[in-house]
Amino acid sequence: MVADALTPVVIHVPHEAQWGAGEGRVGPLLGAPHFPVVIVGAGACGLTAALMLQGQGVPSLLLERDDHPQGSSALSSGFVPAAGTLCQARQGIVDSQAQFIQDIVHKNHDQSPLHLVQAYVQAVPQAIDALETLHGVPWRVLDHFLYPGHSIHRMHAVPETSGEGLMARLMHAAQVAQDQVTVLTSARVTQLYVDPDQRVVGLGYVRPDGSQEWVRAHAVLLASNGFGGNTELVAQHLPAMKHAVYAGHAGNDGSAVLWGQALGVKLLDMGAYQGHGSWQPELGLLMSWALMGEGGIQINQQGVRFHDESQGYSEASVGVLAQPGSRAWCVFDTPVFELGLGFPEFKQAKALGGIKRFDSVSALAAWVGCPLENLERTLQGLANEGESAAAPLSALSRPLAPPLYAVQVTGALFHTQGGLDIDAHCRVLTSAGAPLPNLWAAGGAARGVSGQEVWGYLSGNGLLSALAGGFISAQSIAKALGQAPAAGAALA
Ligand SMILES: Cc1cc2nc3c(=O)[nH]c(=O)nc-3n(C[C@H](O)[C@H](O)[C@H](O)COP(=O)(O)OP(=O)(O)OC[C@H]3O[C@@H](n4cnc5c(N)ncnc54)[C@H](O)[C@@H]3O)c2cc1C
Repeated sequence: MVADALTPVVIHVPHEAQWGAGEGRVGPLLGAPHFPVVIVGAGACGLTAALMLQGQGVPSLLLERDDHPQGSSALSSGFVPAAGTLCQARQGIVDSQAQFIQDIVHKNHDQSPLHLVQAYVQAVPQAIDALETLHGVPWRVLDHFLYPGHSIHRMHAVPETSGEGLMARLMHAAQVAQDQVTVLTSARVTQLYVDPDQRVVGLGYVRPDGSQEWVRAHAVLLASNGFGGNTELVAQHLPAMKHAVYAGHAGNDGSAVLWGQALGVKLLDMGAYQGHGSWQPELGLLMSWALMGEGGIQINQQGVRFHDESQGYSEASVGVLAQPGSRAWCVFDTPVFELGLGFPEFKQAKALGGIKRFDSVSALAAWVGCPLENLERTLQGLANEGESAAAPLSALSRPLAPPLYAVQVTGALFHTQGGLDIDAHCRVLTSAGAPLPNLWAAGGAARGVSGQEVWGYLSGNGLLSALAGGFISAQSIAKALGQAPAAGAALA
C-alpha cells in the first residue's frame, strides 16, 4: 500500500507527563476533547458496544468514516445466530449453548479459538436480549429454514429480515441514547497515538474536506471490520478471492489490521473469510443458500453439477469461481421458488427479471447455453441417487421437475474473518500474549471463529462476532474504567 494522508498509521508519543508545551507530534492532542471510550466504526459491532456501554453508564464516542453509518452490517442479511434467547423461548425453540458450540467447531474442524467460541456463544443471547429489552430492537427466529450447519433454528432477525433493518434499529436506539452515545459521522480515523506503555492516548481522524481533528480516550475499541475492501491485503491473504466480486462495504479497508501490524500485534486466521457461492452480479443481490438447502442445485455452463450443495455457501464460492466464466446457475422448482419469495433480495431479483421460469428442460438448457443431454442427465441423476451426476449428490437433493426456475450467479467475497489476536474479553494482545493497556477489538476487526479456511465459516459467524464482541468489549471496558469518568468537552 502506498502511504498517504488516509493510510492508517500508529504515531509513537512520549508519556503524557513529558508532553510539555505540546511541541511536535503531541501538539494536536493538547486541547482535544477527551472521551471515556472512543469506538472506531459504527457498524453492528460498534453500535452494540456503545449501547451496552450506555447501559453501564459509560459514555462513548463512535467515529464513523461514512456520512451515514451502514458498514457491511447494512449490506448483510442481518441474521444473527444465538442459543438461549427470550425470542427462542417465545417461539418454543429448545436450544443449548453446548449444541451451538458444537455446530461452530464441527464446521471448522476444531480450528477456531475455543476461548472466543465459548465467550461469543455465551454473550450473544445476552446481547440480543439486552438490545430487545433495553433498546427496543425486536427479534424473531427464522424457523422456516435451517441454515447450513446449524442443528437448531437459531437465526435471529429484525422484522425487516435485513441488515439494513437491523442497522436502522441500532441507529435509532443510539439516537434515543444520545446523552451517552455520540455518533460522529464523516470521521475517518487514520492515526492512533500510542505511548511507550502501548496505551492509545489519542486518535486523529480526517474529514471529507481533508481537514484533521483529534480526540483523546481512556479506552479504544476497534470495530472497523476487516480488510475485504483492501485489494492488496485480499491478494496477499486470500489469493482465491483476488478477482472475485467483493460484496461487502468498501470502507472495510483493513485499518485495524494495519494498526495491529504497526503495534506488533499478531494477526491470526488471515486465510479465513465468508465467501458466497450464490451472488447475482448484475443485480448485486444475494440469492439465499436456502434455495440449495431445500433441494435447489447448481450447474455450470456445461449443464453439469460440480459440487455438493449441502456444504456451506462460503466454500461454494470457490467452487463457483472455478467454473468456466466463474459462473453457475442455481436451478430449482416451484416449492423452492415460493420459499425464495420470503427473502427480500430474491423478491427484488424476481421483480428485476433476474429469476427465470422454464416450462421445459430444453428451454432451460437453451437459456443456460448448455447441451440439453447434459442437463437431462444431471436432472435424471437427482432422481436416480446420483447414478450419472458429475458431483456427489447433496444430502438435500431430490428430483426436480418443470416448471423449473434458474438464476445466474457467481462466487463472491463477503467479509474477512482474520484479524487482531484478542482474549475472551476482546482485549487486543501483544505478540507475547499480554493484553494491551486500553485497546479492544471486536467484530470483523478481530480474528473470528471460523478457523483458517473458507470452509470453516458457519452461517452467521460474522454478526455473531459483531454482536457478541460488542457486548463483551463493553462489559470489559466498563470494568476496566471502574467509575466511569464524565464525558469530556463536547465536540466542536
Ligand atoms: C452480502 C452480505 C451478507 C451477509 N449476511 C450475513 C448474515 O446474514 N449474518 C451474518 O452473521 N453475517 C453476514 N454477513 C457478514 C456481516 O455483514 C459482517 O460480519 C458484520 O456486518 C461485521 O460487523 P462489523 O460491525 O464488525 O463491521 P461493519 O458493519 O462493516 O462496520 C464497520 C464500520 O467501520 C467503519 N470504518 C472502517 N474503517 C474506519 C475508519 N478507519 N474510521 C472510521 N470508521 C471506519 C465502516 O465504515 C463501517 O461502518 C454478510 C456480509 C455481506 C457482505
